[in-house]
Amino acid sequence: MADTGFIPKEKWGAFIEGLAAKAQVWVPCLDGDVVIFKPYSKDQTLCFERPANSPPKGVIFPQSDTLFAFNFSKDPENPQKVMVELEEKLDFPKTIIFGSRPCDAKGFLIYDRPYMQTDTPDPYYKGRREQTAIVTMSCQSTYAGCFCTAVGGGPADKEGSDVLITELDNGYFIEAITDKGKEILQQAAAESGAGHEAEALKKQEAVRARVKDPFCANGKPEISKDLFESDEFWEEELSKCVSCGACTYLCPTCYCFNITDETTFEKGERIRSWDGCMYNHFTLEASGHNPRPTKFQRFKNRVGHKFLFYPEKYNGVIACCGCGRCIRFCPMSVDISEIVSKLQKQTGSASNGK
Ligand code: SF4
Ligand code: SF4
Repeated sequence: MADTGFIPKEKWGAFIEGLAAKAQVWVPCLDGDVVIFKPYSKDQTLCFERPANSPPKGVIFPQSDTLFAFNFSKDPENPQKVMVELEEKLDFPKTIIFGSRPCDAKGFLIYDRPYMQTDTPDPYYKGRREQTAIVTMSCQSTYAGCFCTAVGGGPADKEGSDVLITELDNGYFIEAITDKGKEILQQAAAESGAGHEAEALKKQEAVRARVKDPFCANGKPEISKDLFESDEFWEEELSKCVSCGACTYLCPTCYCFNITDETTFEKGERIRSWDGCMYNHFTLEASGHNPRPTKFQRFKNRVGHKFLFYPEKYNGVIACCGCGRCIRFCPMSVDISEIVSKLQKQTGSASNGK
């Protein structure tokens, strides 16, 4: 059983401040009318009432990341000979993502397989990931578009988190799930959690019962490959998409990137930036050929990656955590859960739960 603790509401601020004294802490902050993760400081307005508009993936996989700097010079005696010096920074600070949601924490598990659990791990991702603890808040409510239980998660799911916190009437129930989580619980100087567990469980179960499940397939929807290959299906479903790419940037499990070298005459930096498969130029080849020239093909790839290709490669794991952001924030209200539900219905393996 997990180690547990309880923090009364009046000690909540001091708890976060105590963590920030020992690590870089990223918290969801109100910025205008949106909530985004920022480094903790006393003058930020923290917001735990609703999930952040964008997930905290950028803490471990920054939107724009300098991989290394380089200097190069030519041998004055032999211009064919170029000397290159690389400067790489791979020491990452101790970091806590505080106030993520269970779907956000699960998103990092989707990243871990291709970026860390391979023979050639990505040193930038791995370095930050190992230095980072994830403190998750269980959801107190459901939100437009979310469907975490339909893809095997839940509003109090512990998978991927080091600590799970559930807000109670008078305070916060804290469960330390991993060794990193136990360290955080120790730092919290929390009261005993015994006596608060039943209230936390009751709250968690009440929210879980309200999450919609458009697939009704025990968290394992299967999609019809025949319908998946139908151009007509995608053209009909995606006619309203405007290829803005918001769905990829706001998705906790989308991990595509581009690499650019930004140089002046003798020095420069190699930079990795987020990219998205919903953009026309994403697959544009130097020859001018584009294997996915239409938005239908691009969205088909996006859904295929999450519900077909990734599960095929990684033992059935679905690369969507059901956070619903791509539904909430799509300017054209394209709904991936509705689309997958239609794809799934054709298999006859499940009924539509809507
Ligand atoms: S957010 Fe909506 S409109 Fe924008 S690319 Fe994604 S599906 Fe298309
Ligand atoms: S595909 Fe949509 S619902 Fe699924 S994890 Fe990404 S943003 Fe969330």
